[in-house]
Amino acid sequence: MRVTVPEQDRRPIKRQTVRRVVGAFRPYRRKVALVGLAIAVTSGLGVVNPLMIRAVFNNALFGVPPGSPTCGGLRCPNLHLLYLYAGIMILVPVLTGLIGIGQTYLSNLVGLRVMQDFRNALYSHLQFMPLRFFTTTRTGEIQSRLANDVGGVQSVVTDTASSILSNVVVIVSSVVAMLVISWQLTVLSLFMTPLFMWLTYKVGKARQRVAAVTQQSMADLTTITEETLSVSGILLSKAFGRQRHEIDRFRGENERLTGLQIKQTMIGRSFFALVGTFFSITPALVYLVAGWVIRGHVGAINSGDLVSFTTLQSRLFFPIGSMLQVSSDVQTSMALFDRIFEYLDMHHEIADAPDAVDLPVDRVRGRVEFSDVWFRYDLPVEETTPSEISDDGHARHSREWALEGVSLEIEPGQLAALVGPSGAGKTTMTYLVPRFYDVQRGAVLIDGIDVRKLRLESLGGLIGIVTQETYLFHTTVRRNLLYGKPDASQEELEGAARAAFIHDRIMELPEGYDTVVGERGYKLSGGEKQRLAIARVILKDPRILILDEATSSLDTTSERLVQEALRPLMRGRTTIAIAHRLSTILSADVIFVVDRGRVVERGTHGELVARGGLYARLYEQQFRSGAVEAVTEDGLVLASGEVVRRATAPDEL
Ligand code: ADP
Repeated sequence: MRVTVPEQDRRPIKRQTVRRVVGAFRPYRRKVALVGLAIAVTSGLGVVNPLMIRAVFNNALFGVPPGSPTCGGLRCPNLHLLYLYAGIMILVPVLTGLIGIGQTYLSNLVGLRVMQDFRNALYSHLQFMPLRFFTTTRTGEIQSRLANDVGGVQSVVTDTASSILSNVVVIVSSVVAMLVISWQLTVLSLFMTPLFMWLTYKVGKARQRVAAVTQQSMADLTTITEETLSVSGILLSKAFGRQRHEIDRFRGENERLTGLQIKQTMIGRSFFALVGTFFSITPALVYLVAGWVIRGHVGAINSGDLVSFTTLQSRLFFPIGSMLQVSSDVQTSMALFDRIFEYLDMHHEIADAPDAVDLPVDRVRGRVEFSDVWFRYDLPVEETTPSEISDDGHARHSREWALEGVSLEIEPGQLAALVGPSGAGKTTMTYLVPRFYDVQRGAVLIDGIDVRKLRLESLGGLIGIVTQETYLFHTTVRRNLLYGKPDASQEELEGAARAAFIHDRIMELPEGYDTVVGERGYKLSGGEKQRLAIARVILKDPRILILDEATSSLDTTSERLVQEALRPLMRGRTTIAIAHRLSTILSADVIFVVDRGRVVERGTHGELVARGGLYARLYEQQFRSGAVEAVTEDGLVLASGEVVRRATAPDEL
């Protein structure tokens, strides 16, 4: 695969990059050496046959002088020599072919293995990249580096490196052999070469330019396709009746691409035409010069020398031509390597501290504390300067900070509800507990230990998260559930599913627990997916639960079932809920009212309503709009001020 890098990425090759690339091949150095040897041998063997031609003409075919009894007045063949030479001329190509097969196998093996190593290294590195990286990088970009860039570098070994070595050997061995035959003819050939090189160079440059533009055009076409043929894209274009417009846009880019591809093919063709022309016309020139040489008594050239020489000379053009392309190939490969290294060098902003400790699940109590937490999304932790926070603890530029000096405590087993207007910072607060992001100032603590001092794996084991958006892998229900606890038994699995009120539904699916769900699998409803996600967390049995309640995407029945499923999940664990339902808020041990990155009020529902502040206003508005339900003292569930049903579960009351 030939991958071209846009013009702007063609930077000078860095020595460090070369060193790292060489380093990547180190584990395979024996194989690389073998490949090198094979290339040198096969390329070197290439001069044997032209030299044999000379020997055949001069010594074998017309080797016996006239006058011998068998040939009469003519020169006649020396058959013994002819057998020997013909034998060598058959043997050498066969041998070259065989070594070539071995060499191709080995060089591909090494190239593919190095590619495999890079893919593994990149994937592992990406798994530990902070969330910030994924929210700020286009998904396609990550995929492309893993697939195309890594794929592109394979050609470095299998094509570029091998071709450099073989071309050098071919050129040197051919020129030496030519010199041996006739220095005069060699001088003539070398005079011809600069013209050929100049033309090839020009063609190469043009090819590079067109290739870069073509690559860009292909990328544009892919972007259009990705954007407009995704579910959201197609919905948008249908909703706005913009299909015609999109089709025209696609056609335009498609037309441009075709034009460029035709141009690219033609330029490629002209390179071969150039080589072909030189290949064909040089024998004529060589014969001419030979004539002059013989006529002018400058030297002696016989027919064997001539045939052999033209054969050798024709071997030169292709290697010289491709050597002129090599620099751009190397540049392309190095640019691809640079892109891979750029990812590999990205700092794992959130990683285990050297003195990080484990907090065993059975010993953790689950107290969560925020101590003067300052956080902003737009800069990594190490880039924050103290000057961005003023002495009196306020942000110098308001609203750059998602959280400004948040302090709160949640005791083990408590249900804490975060309430506040949209964009207040509730989700952000929940992100800081599992260290999806690190705080810029202050600390988040679990059982009094700064989360940055806990080993990430241990921290991950303590926390369970149920969000509004449920992500299921494209695999069976069972495997999706086991993600929470890989060694869970069938009983545990069913127990969790029952607790989450999803077991019966799973049993109704075509293949029960073995039904494939997820993006391209069996379509579960939003509520069912959420209950599955809840079962997954029940299985995990974390000490701390983070719950982002859905707003109103579910119908009342599904909503109710999800609520029922959540109840056993919250029991006995510290729960931080971004609460939208009144029932959750009412049963909360403590409510934190968040506004513009600060905790502005705290207390129980009763206390906060009595206070008559932001909470009281929110409660009033949301209750009226029916976004939340309330249970009256006589056990009736109200929504939008209407009685919708009688409360059923005991803790609803
Ligand atoms: P809430 O959950 O209360 O609705 P969030 O915690 O999601 O609010 O957001 C708090 C603030 O942080 C908002 O101003 C929001 O625009 C901003 N924010 C959220 N996520 C990001 C992000 N990934 N990058 C930059 N800003 C963000």
